[in-house]
Amino acid sequence: MITLIRTANIFTTTRAIIINITLPDHNPTLTPINPQVTATSAASAAVASGSTKPDDPLAWCTARARIPTPDGSEYFLLIYENKLDKKEHLAFVFSDSIRSRSLDKVQPGETEMDRIKRGAYLGRLQPSTTAVQDQNQCNLAATATTATTATTMTMTTTSVVEMVVDQEQGPSTVMEVEDNMAVTLSASSTTSLSKPLAPLVRIHSECFTGEIGHSARCDCGEQLDEAIRLMKAEGSGVVVYLRQEGRGIGLGEKLKAYNLQDLGYDTVMANLLLNHGADERTYEVAQAILLDLGLDEIRLLTNNPDKIEQVELSSNIKVVERVPMVPKSWEAIVQGTQGNLEVKEGAVENKIVKGKELDRYLKVKVERMRHLISIPTSL
Ligand SMILES: [Zn+2]
Repeated sequence: MITLIRTANIFTTTRAIIINITLPDHNPTLTPINPQVTATSAASAAVASGSTKPDDPLAWCTARARIPTPDGSEYFLLIYENKLDKKEHLAFVFSDSIRSRSLDKVQPGETEMDRIKRGAYLGRLQPSTTAVQDQNQCNLAATATTATTATTMTMTTTSVVEMVVDQEQGPSTVMEVEDNMAVTLSASSTTSLSKPLAPLVRIHSECFTGEIGHSARCDCGEQLDEAIRLMKAEGSGVVVYLRQEGRGIGLGEKLKAYNLQDLGYDTVMANLLLNHGADERTYEVAQAILLDLGLDEIRLLTNNPDKIEQVELSSNIKVVERVPMVPKSWEAIVQGTQGNLEVKEGAVENKIVKGKELDRYLKVKVERMRHLISIPTSL
């Protein structure tokens, strides 16, 4: 029934892993039967290891919806409630395979339509959708086969493919199934079966002035845009968007701090003069959201070492890599291309902010808040 073509290197090792994957007969797409189990396996592992309580979470997802974007791509926006504050924190999820454990959990007495309205469905909704696991809607693409998904997903069955992965040498490259359809797997896609790349994560604090108000006092809007751009390019990632305006002091107090900054005080001193801490943010809710999404190993987009320490604090979350966020205006100064810098105020993508206030703000972050970026020598 099945012809398996094995490359020579597969037989040179005793550490080859054989993974049985079953594919639907007439649909090249990998379709999970029970995606709730699959999507939340990492979260379940975190629960099992004691990092969070399964029935008493600090934060839980109440709704999810697809957000199409102007370039044709899309992501899912998730709303979280929590026990620490009254704010609705958010997660921008750039992957079908990253799912919320709390959202997918079946609630007592709810109907299929209740679950659809909450966003606890698979694939994409259509006018004809009536069930969260409608097979016609379960079009999780084969491209979404992260290692977690691929190694734990239970597939619908009729044809069986035997896949051989060599942990040291890489996977076999060609498989044949009974209908003589040859499946060629690229090295990059199958390598991820043995060692997945941890997802990109940005833990971003709300900044009304920088993201909505076109302010050039900070680079928050630029950072949010860049994080989203990187996640779209990678096809995976999560922005945890925390409602922590003004490093936790709120918009009203932030405006008072701006007045003090215009008097010559820097962003740290202005906060202190208002009887606030330099940075009053905490990250327990972010930790809870990451664990709810099954993300206990992440590549964190940040320049802030304090954020790394707080995300890892008292949790099983591990920042396996820090991905720096270099301010575009400073990058241009270092490269001598600032003359080409195009300022796009309020643009959805490639928003660039520059100016004296921004330079002052960024220098304070480096000099007084340990941020890990280099100040251009000309400043
Ligand atoms: Zn800002």
